[in-house]
Amino acid sequence: MLLSSAPASTAAWSVADSSSLYGLERWGEPYFSVNGRGHVMVQPRGDRGGSLDLVELVEGLQDRDLGLPLLIRFDDILEDRLERLHGAFERAIAQYGYSGRYQGVFPVKCNQQRHVVEQLVESGRRWHFGLEAGSKAELLIALSLLEDPEALLICNGYKDHRYIETAILARQLGRQPVVVIEQADEVERIIAASRQLGAAPLIGVRAKLSTRSTGRWGSSVGERAKFGLSVPDLLHTVEALREADLLNDLRLLHFHVGSQINDIAVLKDALQEAGQLYVQLAGLGAPMGFLDVGGGLGVDYDGSRTATAASTNYSLQNYANDVVATVRESCEPHGLPLPTLVSESGRAIASHFSVLVFNVLGTGAVVDGIPTALEGEPLIVRNLRDTLAGISAENLQEAWNDARKFKDDALSAFRLGYLSLGDRGRAEQLYWACCWAIARQLPATGVPEDLRNLQAALASTYYANLSIFRSAPDTWAIDQLFPVMPIHRLNERPDQLGSFADLTCDSDGKLARFINAGSEKSLLELHSLREGEPYLIGLFLAGAYQEVMGNLHNLFGSTNAVNIRLGTGGHYRVDHVVRGHTNAEVLEAMEHNPESLLERLRRASEAAIDRGQLSIGAARQLMQHLETSLQQSTYLEADLPGGAQELDASPEVGVA
Ligand SMILES: *Cc1c(COP(=O)(O)O)cnc(C)c1O
Repeated sequence: MLLSSAPASTAAWSVADSSSLYGLERWGEPYFSVNGRGHVMVQPRGDRGGSLDLVELVEGLQDRDLGLPLLIRFDDILEDRLERLHGAFERAIAQYGYSGRYQGVFPVKCNQQRHVVEQLVESGRRWHFGLEAGSKAELLIALSLLEDPEALLICNGYKDHRYIETAILARQLGRQPVVVIEQADEVERIIAASRQLGAAPLIGVRAKLSTRSTGRWGSSVGERAKFGLSVPDLLHTVEALREADLLNDLRLLHFHVGSQINDIAVLKDALQEAGQLYVQLAGLGAPMGFLDVGGGLGVDYDGSRTATAASTNYSLQNYANDVVATVRESCEPHGLPLPTLVSESGRAIASHFSVLVFNVLGTGAVVDGIPTALEGEPLIVRNLRDTLAGISAENLQEAWNDARKFKDDALSAFRLGYLSLGDRGRAEQLYWACCWAIARQLPATGVPEDLRNLQAALASTYYANLSIFRSAPDTWAIDQLFPVMPIHRLNERPDQLGSFADLTCDSDGKLARFINAGSEKSLLELHSLREGEPYLIGLFLAGAYQEVMGNLHNLFGSTNAVNIRLGTGGHYRVDHVVRGHTNAEVLEAMEHNPESLLERLRRASEAAIDRGQLSIGAARQLMQHLETSLQQSTYLEADLPGGAQELDASPEVGVA
C-alpha cells in the first residue's frame, strides 16, 4: 500500500533514509552500504578498501547466463571475518597480558561446501586455524583438507569405534585430532580402540555446564542437554583414563553454550564455571593445555546491539575480552600455565560472506482506481462516492467508519437481491478507493490501532522467485530473522508496504517477518514495480547453516551460486561457479527417472494423436517444453533484456 506521510511525492528521500530504514547502517557495517545511485555496495575487504556495486555485479553474472535467484559468496569477506576474529583475540591477549595463545577452529557443520572449507583452511594457515567435525563425514572432510600439523582437529558428535580409530590413526599421520568425550560411555570405546592400536588420540572432555543460555538454542546446555558430561561423569572419566594409563592424553576441556548467544552475561557465567572445571581437571593430574569455549559467538542481524533474538548485546571484541579475562582470572590464582584458548565460531565467521539475490515476479496488490459514475446509481453506491469525495485529514476515522458501514450495506443489499452484480463491484471498488485515500493521508506517527489495521489490509504480496525452504530455511523452521531489502532504487522513497510469498505451494513459504531494530515487523517498505524493469531483493547474512539445512520442498533445488573475488581497480573475478539443480536432478533425488517420465508422456501423446485430440505439432511442442525443462533450473526464467553470453573462465570484469 502507499505509505502515509503526506504529501509523499514532494518530501525528499535520500539514500541515507533508505540505509536507516532498512537498518543497513547498523547491520551492514563494514561490508554493505548504499551508493549515490541507490544501489547496495559491497566492501568485501571491510574497511581495507575496494568495493563493488551489487546491482552491476548481478547484471554481469546474468550476462554469463547465471540467472536468479543467485547466491553470491564473497570470499574476501570470509577472509576478513577470520582476520577480525584473530585480531580481536590478539588485542585481548595483549590487553590482559595473557600468557597463552588463541587458536580457533571452524565447525564444518556450519557450511560444509568444499570451497568454503578450503578457503578457510588456506586463509587460516598463518594462525594454524583448524576445523571441528561433528560426524564421520565431516571428519573425512577435515582430515583431508587440514594438512597443517599444528592446526587442531576437534572431533565432536557421536563416535563409533571406526570414528575413534580414524582419529587415532590421524594423530600418527601427523595431525592434531582431539577426540572430545561427550557421552559417558565414549571413554570405554576410546580406551578399547587405544589398546587395540597401541596408540592414543589427544583427548578432550565436554562439560555439561549448569549455566543456561537464554537464546533459541539454549537447550544445548544445562542439566538436560544432549551432549556433555555431568560432574560425576567427568570424575568417572578421569579415573577411567587414569586406570587405562591415558590420563596424559587428556588435554582439552570443551563446552558449548548453544548457538547465537544473545546476552554476554550467559557466556561470562559459563566461562567462570568452565574455568574452575579446568583448574580442577589439572589438579586431578591431567596435563590439559586447551580450553575450548565452543561456538555461540553471535551475529547482530538487526544491528540493534540488544540481547534480543536477532541481535547480541556485545561486539566481537567484547567477546574476546571476556574469554581472555575470565580464563585468566580462573587459572592464575592456582599458578597454572594459561591454556591455549580455542573457539568454534561458525555463525560469526560464515554469516556475512554470502548474499542471496532474488527477483520479484509480480505483486498481488489490492485494487486501486475509481469507477466512473453512472446515471441512476443506487443510494448505497452514491453514499460511498460521497464518502470518498469528503475525505480530509480532519475526518479520517469518520470516513473509515462510514466506508466500512456502506460496504456492509452493499453486501446485505446484494444478498437480498436489491443490488446488481455490477453495482456491487462498483461499491467494492469505491470502498477500496476510500481505504487508499485514507491511508495516503495518515500521519507518520500516532495512528490509532484501528487505522493501522487499514494499512495492513492494503499491504501487497510480492511474489519472490525463491524457495525459502531451500535458501533460508531457518526463517521457516526457527523463525530466524535475516536482513531483507531491495538492492536498488534506494534513492526513491518506498511507496508500498508488503511481504513476500515464495514459489512453493506451501502457505508457510513466505517472508513476512522483518528486522526492526530490536523488535520485528510484519510488513516491509517496498517500491511499486515498474513495467519491464526487474525488482531485485537481497537477503543478507545467511552464509551460516542455510545452505546445508535447505530442502527440496516442492522440488525447488539449489540456486546458482558464485564465488567472487575483488580484483584491482574496481574489477572482480568470478572464482567458482556452481550451477543450481536442474529439474532432472531434483527428480532423480526423489528416485524418479526423467527418461522414463518422458517416455510415458511420449506414449500418452501418441495415443492422443491417434484419437485426434492432439496435433502432431502440438505434441512436438509439448515434448520440447518437457525436455528443455528437465535440463533447466527449478526456478522461473526471467525474461531479461539482452541475450545471455557464454561463460568464459574467470576473466576480470570491469565495473564502472
Ligand atoms: C554448532 C556448534 C558450533 C558452532 O556454533 P556457532 O554458534 O555457529 O558458532 C560449535 N561447536 C559445537 C559443538 C556445535 O555443536
